[in-house]
This record gives sequence, C-alpha cells and structure tokens, in this order.
Amino acid sequence: MGNIVAIVGRPNVGKSTLFNRLTETRQAIVDETSGVTRDRIYGKAEWNGKHFSVIDTGGWAENSDDQFEEVIRQQVLIAIEEADVILFLVDVTTGITDYDEAVADILRRKAKKVIIAVNKVDDNSQITESSYFYKMGLDNLFPISAINGSGTGEMLDYLVTIL
Ligand code: GDP
Ligand code: MG
Repeated sequence: MGNIVAIVGRPNVGKSTLFNRLTETRQAIVDETSGVTRDRIYGKAEWNGKHFSVIDTGGWAENSDDQFEEVIRQQVLIAIEEADVILFLVDVTTGITDYDEAVADILRRKAKKVIIAVNKVDDNSQITESSYFYKMGLDNLFPISAINGSGTGEMLDYLVTIL
C-alpha cells in the first residue's frame, strides 16, 4: 500500500489519456472506440518529488450485457477500497450524465478524498462550463485537458497535498 490514486469515470471520458500523462507511459490503451480499456492498469507517477501509484479503471465494453448500475457500483467501490484518493473524471463536452450522477452519489456517501477533474477543457473558453459540475455536490474541481496538459499542474499541486 501507500499513496494510491484511482481514476474513475465513464467510458470515453479520457481516463487512459490522463493515466498516460500522469505516468508518462503508453501503458494504458487509448482508443477512439468507447470502452476499449479492458483491464485495470497500474502505473507509477511523481509530482513535486512525491511518488504515487495510479490505477486506470474501466474494464468493460460499453455495449456489454453488464447491468449498468451494477458495473458502476463495482468499478467505484473497488476503487474506493483500493485507493487513497479518487480522481473522478467527467467530460465538459457532454455535461453531467446519469452515469456521472450515479458515481457522485456513491462518492458523496463514502468518506474518501475525491478530486473532480473536468476533462477536455482544451482551451480557456470552456472554463466557465466546467464549473457547472459543482452541481454534483463535490468540491475540489479542476478543469483539465488530458490531451494538452492544461490545468493538470494545478490539479497535481493539490493532489499531492492530500496524499
Ligand atoms: P477512457 O475510455 O476514459 O479511458 O478514454 P480515453 O483516454 O480512451 O479517451 C477517449 C477519447 O477522448 C479519445 O479519443 C481521446 O483522444 C479523447 N480525449 C481524452 N482526453 C481528451 C482531452 O483532454 N481533450 C479532448 N479534446 N479529447 C480528449
Ligand atoms: Mg480507457
């Protein structure tokens, strides 16, 4: 055990892209097709001299027969069990989805350190929209772009203070 950060969020939100950025590897599989990441992937990251482990969750095909609610529960509950900090990723281009609400419900009930990263904020014009996600009732919200790295420094500055 130690400092473990789990990235949770619905398929296609950018979990594997963020994982790759944090771990500076291509370990996680990123694909245009939703739900391509089949397994949990573990990597190592470092920020401001602090070392931590990152888990890329996911692990299901979007069109599988799995019960949607049950899959959400399993993914998030396993992450909560395993991790010290939950990095809950949402997508500014879609707004709040039912999946996001379901995850937020679980996270609000569990005593756990949570960061919301509003992903795909590739330029400043989307920053206002990202604060809309405060409606989910979770604090510690950071607009980021997993692809170009904007905002990830501020998010990591905060993350390492709560590890
Ligand atoms: P996952 O299913 O949550 O692991 O999502 P992926 O990391 O596989 O990314 C899904 C899609 O979103 C891919 O086409 C990525 O290139 C894209 N994506 C990820 N992060 C960003 C971002 O910050 N900005 C934009 N515009 N696209 C992104
Ligand atoms: Mg993935």
